[in-house]
Formats: sequence, structure tokens, C-alpha cells
Amino acid sequence: MGQIYFDHSATTPLDPRVVEAMLPCYGENFGNPSSIHSDGQQAKESVDWGRKQVADLLHASPEEIIFTASGTEADNMALIGVATKYKPQDCHIITSIFEHPAILETCKYLERLGYAVSYLPVNSEGIVEPESLRQALRPDTRLVSVMAANNVVGTLQPIDELAKITKAHGALFHTDAVQAAGKIPLHMDVTPIDMLSMSAHKLHGPKGIGMLYIRQGVEIEPLLHGGGQERGIRSATENVAGIVGFGKAAELANMEMVAEASRLAKLRERIIVSLSEKVPDAYLIGHSQKRLPGHICLGVAGRESDAILLMLLLNEDGISISTGSACSSHHAGQPSYILMAMGMDPIRARGSLRITLGRFTTDLEVDTFIEALPRAISNLSPVGEREFATVA
Ligand code: PLP
Repeated sequence: MGQIYFDHSATTPLDPRVVEAMLPCYGENFGNPSSIHSDGQQAKESVDWGRKQVADLLHASPEEIIFTASGTEADNMALIGVATKYKPQDCHIITSIFEHPAILETCKYLERLGYAVSYLPVNSEGIVEPESLRQALRPDTRLVSVMAANNVVGTLQPIDELAKITKAHGALFHTDAVQAAGKIPLHMDVTPIDMLSMSAHKLHGPKGIGMLYIRQGVEIEPLLHGGGQERGIRSATENVAGIVGFGKAAELANMEMVAEASRLAKLRERIIVSLSEKVPDAYLIGHSQKRLPGHICLGVAGRESDAILLMLLLNEDGISISTGSACSSHHAGQPSYILMAMGMDPIRARGSLRITLGRFTTDLEVDTFIEALPRAISNLSPVGEREFATVA
């Protein structure tokens, strides 16, 4: 058996059916979709097909899909695109304290430009409470952005309710659905979401392609100016192969979501139940049910400062997971701002394990993990002998 991959929130392996769909774009289907000749038109048909698949996944219209190069770009486009329609002094933005950096760093940038930003708290289960949004709204609030599912804890946010509150106030609602899309149903025909970000590589599609859903009638300023592709909102020659791969990934997620979500939720619960028996000190972080089907965020009491060591031991044992505090290697060993936002103390916030399952996860892999984690914990030095000097 090769390495067991339990880090699907970081990225997912390409589905072979996605690769197959993309291959012609690296061969005979090489045209520029803006060209009028048949090579161009063939590429345009591919782009149209991909756009339709992504729109179908969201129950949206193809014209509402604007392709970008990443989820990060889609988030930037939504926030900056709305903010720059206003003067900074006329535009208040609300987001949550535990968004992905693609939102938080963009908000900080807008604050430097003079825009006002409020950050909603989350409760100890990792959920934004709608009442906090009601209290934060101001007459000049133009945009609210709250993620659909958190990337570290996996908790689902009440975006339907948050969107309704925002609409009743007359502001726009954006959601970063990079972790949620393809895993839980998202209905643009029912929920009053104005903008939604997605990234193909989180749903077994390729890297380097994302999209921003923009509801018909919502106007934003473009980030990129040029040849007028993507309805003039995102100029640049289209990433045809990426769009086809994204389209195939969306089509597969759409077809398989219900069965796959129930399969992954069962595997997730099996891991949680087995570990609670084998590792009595283990605790689940975040709401027990309102979470992504294949997402577990786990702490081990007294072992928080060993999280990175545990991750490395598991890696040696052939299993890839990540630590909640250091889901990016750039911040290894730092307390997670996401767990701190949930009210955890800095020691606990430093050491969680993020275990995220995906389409190719098997029962056997889950069995292997359930054996391997307690073994890795028992291989750590006894608690009393550990060095506490590094715990800030
Ligand atoms: N938003 C969330 C919630 C994410 O988890 C990520 C990536 O991990 C992003 C945005 C950024 O997406 P991308 O990697 O496509 O830029």
C-alpha cells in the first residue's frame, strides 16, 4: 500500500476521469476561445461545457460563473471588487475572525486603504452565531463575507441564515465555499448568496483554477483589466484545460455527492468512536455534527505540543495528515488563530491534528489509521519527561 493520504483539506488527488477529460486540451484542443476560427470555437465549446458543469453544481446560471486562477483570487475579487465601488469612508465590511487568510489578509489590505472591517466572533464549537451579525451591521455595511465551512475545524456555518439577515439589511453576501463546495449542497436558486468562491483542487480537480459565482445583477470592479474575457470581469486568456478539469470535477461531485457524503461521514464517525476508545485523552474540536463529512479536527489532552511530532511519526508510518495549527508549513508550531478564536488556550490551540478524508479513502486505510495513531502516541516520550520550555 502506498502512502495513505488523509489531508484532503489541503488538496485532493486528481480523479482519473478529470485527467482524461483534460488531456485533449494539451493536444489537439489547443485553441484560444476568443478566436473565431474552428480551433478557437472548439476551445470555446470546452469552456462553455466546464462553465455549465460548475453552474449546475451550484444551481446557478452559467453566465454567473467567472473563472479565476484560484480560490484566493476569487476571494480577493469579491472583497476588493465590491469595496472599490465605494469610497473607503462609505463602505463597511463584515467578515468572521476565523476565515482563511485569503479573506483575512484581503480585509487587512482594505483596512490599510481606509475601509472599515468588523470581525465576527465564533463560539466554542467553531460556529458564527447569526445574532453577532445582526449586532455588527451598520447603515454603511456593503458586504458580509462568512465562509461556508472552515478549513481547519471543518465546521459548517449557518450561511443560509447569515445571507438572509444580510439581504434584509440591503448589503451583499459573499461566502468562501472553497472547502464546502462539492461536499455539501449549495443552492444559489434558494439561498440569497450574491457571491461564492470555489477552487477546483479541493474537489479532485486541477490546481490553478477557481471561480467566483456572481449573482446576475451584482456589479463588482474587476481586479484584472485587459481583453475583456469572462464578461470583462476577469481579463486573461482562459485556462481551457483547467476549466475542463474543473467542469469534470464539478460534474462528478454533483453526481456522487449524496452517496459520498454519507460514506465519508460513516468513516469519520468510525474514526472518532474508535479513537475515543483507544485514546481516552483525545477530544474532538468543533461541533460534532455540523461539520464537513470527511473532516476531523482532534486534540490529545496533554499532548498538544507534540502534534507536529505525531504528524511526522504518522508520516514515517505511511500516513499523511496535517496539524490544525500548522496546516501550512509557514506557521509550524504557532498557536492556530482559528482555535484561539474558538476560545482555546494557546497550548491547546498549538496542537491539533487535522484528518481529512476523500473520494479514494478506503475502509482499510481507516483501519490502518485507527491502529497507527494510538501507536504513534505511545511512542512519544512520557508526558512528565517532555520539555515544556518551548511552550510559550
Ligand atoms: N479559502 C479556503 C477556506 C481554503 O481552505 C483555501 C485553501 O486552502 C483557500 C481559500 C485558497 O484556495 P486556493 O488554494 O485555490 O487559492
